[in-house]
Amino acid sequence: MPNTASDSTSAPLETPRLGEPYLLTPGPLTTAYEVKEAMLRDWGSWDGAFRAMTARLRRELLDIAGDMAGEFDCVPMQGSGSFSVEAMLGSFVPKDGKVLVLSNGAYGKRIAQTLSYLGRDHAVIDKGDYMPPRGTEVATALDADPAISHVVVVHCETSSGILNPLKEISDTVYAHGRKLLVDSMSAFGAVPARVSDFRYEAIVSSANKCIEGVPGFGFVIARKSELEAAKGRSHSLSLDIHAQWDYMNKSGQWRFTPPTHVVAAFLEALRIHREEGGVAARGARYARNRDVMVAGMREAGFETLLADQWLSPIIVTFFSPAHPAFAFDRFYDLMKDKGFIIYPGKLTVVDSFRVGCIGRMDEHVMRRVVDAARSSLAEMGVDNAAPPAIALEERSRLAA
Ligand SMILES: *Cc1c(COP(=O)(O)O)cnc(C)c1O
Repeated sequence: MPNTASDSTSAPLETPRLGEPYLLTPGPLTTAYEVKEAMLRDWGSWDGAFRAMTARLRRELLDIAGDMAGEFDCVPMQGSGSFSVEAMLGSFVPKDGKVLVLSNGAYGKRIAQTLSYLGRDHAVIDKGDYMPPRGTEVATALDADPAISHVVVVHCETSSGILNPLKEISDTVYAHGRKLLVDSMSAFGAVPARVSDFRYEAIVSSANKCIEGVPGFGFVIARKSELEAAKGRSHSLSLDIHAQWDYMNKSGQWRFTPPTHVVAAFLEALRIHREEGGVAARGARYARNRDVMVAGMREAGFETLLADQWLSPIIVTFFSPAHPAFAFDRFYDLMKDKGFIIYPGKLTVVDSFRVGCIGRMDEHVMRRVVDAARSSLAEMGVDNAAPPAIALEERSRLAA
């Protein structure tokens, strides 16, 4: 959790060689030079070398998920992360199933919207912008509605940065004999999500989040029994996970044109992930990024939306200062001039902005981020970064 973060513990990572700004955004994010370099070669999608790359990618992701018993398989899917979420929902929820969506932000809303498009019956526990869904309320909803077959939850809700209590939710879901599907897009690879950490039927993530690859595909890690049961269920030819799985197992190939360069880059990203020390080390670097950045920003007078208990090591939401001279667009431009791309906030009640902790960067970079924020405030003539009173009232609702 955020603490005094003045002691430097690690040698700096290399800085970007191409003079690009750091992307303090939760994907696409700043990638290693070697990851970009891996894309300087063309691959034939049917060729044995590329088929071997696909097989390695699937195996290494299953290793990260800790599938010791061989009960799961990994199916990569072309497109951005949302394509894989849609593929998961359309493939694993039967047409006569009913989904309980635990929503506390934009990505939970997108799941409910996707289910509407798919024509799958669903109910929503809507916790607003950032309150965490808790096991007790999930239990109440499941007791009240026996038709619910599946629960879907977002692991880290990237719109606020909250890390939802997955273990508590999973225990509740299975104690009630239902099945859990997880959108772990922005957490997988840096936050524990092994099959032994909490139970699930399927979990989704994508290439351009915590594994630090470039955008172009997502992947679903699912129980083989669920993959088999998904046959003929999907609403969509291109998003049919069973068909992709079956074809890939038989031919070693993707059904339709694969993002070959993205796969090559991803394998390099996986190598770096492994070399760094896997999920634990990646998560520790991001947590350190967060601690250094949050401590510095608080010292500069900024306030976080979330209390320490709910802060993820992925992305942090700050309230915008109430000072009349503060304007987000100008702050954004001033930060960009200094080499840092930040992210607008997504809260509906008060103005906010977000700073990502993921990507190829470390605490040394985060100290420069804080310096850049301080100078940008000074350039704007903002001498007090405190948020409006209403923001702090919002936050105390969360603590209650
Ligand atoms: C990034 C992300 C997605 C997928 O977004 P795309 O823009 O489709 O890649 C889904 N859920 C969460 C929680 C995310 O962070």
